[in-house]
Amino acid sequence: MTDPTPPDPSHTGWNWNHSYQNLPDLFFRSTLPVPVKQPQLLILNETLATQLGLDPSLLSAPQHTGWFTGNLIPPGAKPIAQAYAGHQFGHFTGLGDGRAILLGEHITPLRQRFDIQLKGSGRTPFSRGGDGRAALGPMLREYLISEAMHALNIPTTRSLAVATTGETVTRSENLPGAILTRVAASHIRVGTFQWAAAHENTPALRALADHTRQRHFPHLSEASHLDFFHAVMNRQASLIAQWLSVGFIHGVMNTDNMALSGETIDYGPCAFIDSFDPKTTFSSIDHYGRYAYDQQASIARWNLARLAETLIPLFHDDEKSAVDLANQALHTFQETFQKHWLQRMRAKLGLLTEDPADHPLIKDLLDWMHSQKHDFTNTFLTLSNTSSLETPPFHDPEFASWHQRWKSRLLSQPNTPSETIARMRAHNPTVIPRNHLVEEALTAASEHNDLTPFRQLLSIITHPFATEAPEKFTSPPPPGSPPYQTFCGT
Ligand code: AMP
Ligand code: MG
Repeated sequence: MTDPTPPDPSHTGWNWNHSYQNLPDLFFRSTLPVPVKQPQLLILNETLATQLGLDPSLLSAPQHTGWFTGNLIPPGAKPIAQAYAGHQFGHFTGLGDGRAILLGEHITPLRQRFDIQLKGSGRTPFSRGGDGRAALGPMLREYLISEAMHALNIPTTRSLAVATTGETVTRSENLPGAILTRVAASHIRVGTFQWAAAHENTPALRALADHTRQRHFPHLSEASHLDFFHAVMNRQASLIAQWLSVGFIHGVMNTDNMALSGETIDYGPCAFIDSFDPKTTFSSIDHYGRYAYDQQASIARWNLARLAETLIPLFHDDEKSAVDLANQALHTFQETFQKHWLQRMRAKLGLLTEDPADHPLIKDLLDWMHSQKHDFTNTFLTLSNTSSLETPPFHDPEFASWHQRWKSRLLSQPNTPSETIARMRAHNPTVIPRNHLVEEALTAASEHNDLTPFRQLLSIITHPFATEAPEKFTSPPPPGSPPYQTFCGT
């Protein structure tokens, strides 16, 4: 996509472009954020600001605080609310930004394009029942976990800032209000395509597909819509494999929460697994385990089937042929996912070559971990320790026999043991955002106005591959802790 660079007479560093607003107006409404009572910048991601070509000291200057709450519109921004639909827990609904405003697309000095969105910025024409606002805890949660995901090298939206509003939001209790500034490759979702399809507007759908293809798959600008769909599937398959490789559970994989860019988006009830159980769900409303750890690949496929349905008119003029093409494409998903999953899991075990027995080798380790209720992250970390290649680190006959198989497999590789260790170290984090520590940090911030635990946790989890971390951050929850539950981030 060509990026015209408008001049910035104010020298604020913002370099806005609004390519999304060239789409038919079915897809958005010009909407201003609703100003808040008392804007205060709580946290600014200075590293990200710099990567975006913005000056952190300028962003944090008191006269610019309003940029992060919508009290002040940055020069050149053209705020809109985006329209989309979505299947939520399998049920189709019209949605749209009910509490978010897209300020526009910022073009960085390296010519990268990022959506800058305010989340919690007030009601919009798409708001249904809600107040358009967000509470501090969930916004800090999104900041923390999205930045942790980025540090784990997993594609994700990012967090530039959290600002408090000086207002109270009413949930099950009164909570401090806040707004997150989210940075994303785009906010185009499977649900955006569903919105066009629900309006039976094929020209709008075609415009959206072309825009998305140009924006996220520029190498396919001349390719067919079917090739575009294959590329979208491949990115999702890769993303889910990466989630599984670090024990991440998204928790609310509705079609409106699946981004075409292939980034992880919408950190509501997500969490990382401690003790390994593939059936784990954390979300308090996921009663049937629809979005459990081991369901994520098949749910991604289900969501992609909903995307394929919207694209039928673009696949072929003849509907039956188009449906056949969509089905054939969807049939490849499982194999593509399996390929990505094996690649990630092999890396975790230090395997640099491919062997047909790798799948059972990985599966048997996971089954053993499950049966013993071992911590997912720490088991892999223990295996990465040089010494464990010599003696089995866990005293269990079943594990010892697995360890023997793994050792033989490693010896079958042409590389040196130190290369194996290096590979494992690069794919097995020392720290993940441990649920009990996330809660502790959010409670301190939200209930006691104390950001110290949050900042400390953030600084640790944004260096997940550091060789050492204080024990507090690597330990699973204390024995006897109740099962962890998350709530849809509102
Ligand atoms: P989410 O659960 O964040 O994916 O949001 C699902 C839908 O609910 C989106 O259309 C949101 O904009 C909308 N929504 C969530 N919270 C609120 C709120 N407090 N006020 C208005 N709309 C909301
Ligand atoms: Mg959402």
